Amino acid sequence: MKDFIIIDIQGFQFKNNEYIPKELAFYDSEHRIGHYIFESPYHESVLSSKNRRTANWLIKYHHGIDWNDEFVQGSKFGKIISFLTNTVKFVYVKGSMKADILKGTTNATVIDMSDEGGKLMKTFPMCGYHKRGSNCYMCSLSNVFQLHRIAFARLEKDKAMFYETEVCRDYI
Ligand SMILES: [Zn+2]
Repeated sequence: MKDFIIIDIQGFQFKNNEYIPKELAFYDSEHRIGHYIFESPYHESVLSSKNRRTANWLIKYHHGIDWNDEFVQGSKFGKIISFLTNTVKFVYVKGSMKADILKGTTNATVIDMSDEGGKLMKTFPMCGYHKRGSNCYMCSLSNVFQLHRIAFARLEKDKAMFYETEVCRDYI
């Protein structure tokens, strides 16, 4: 069983609680990395005008992934998460909404890294799907690398504290 997997998701979240995943990336404790872009479940012309405005804002200012970008069927989202997490002890993710999505899809323990500090940044490099203009966007692939750095720093700190405690015991 693998120790952990770090997952990030980017997508379209609408006020009516509908969530459409578009991008998923992972980085696990065996240094395996993966990345998916999901097909939207319906044509963009079906969006209400309010949801279309939200989608356009997210495309322009947040993740930059077009509604029509895809290479995996959207219906495979849950299956992919189950597959990725079925032999993992802990699933790390940053954000309560993303944690809730994963909790509903996996039996592994989901840990929300929101309190860990280290804000996720819109940075270069991003994957090739964020191609609108020269803006920086939220990219799941970039995010799992950022989260791995944060998680690794925590693990190193925990280890250091453990050894400190052991050393103290030796001297008592
Ligand atoms: Zn990306």
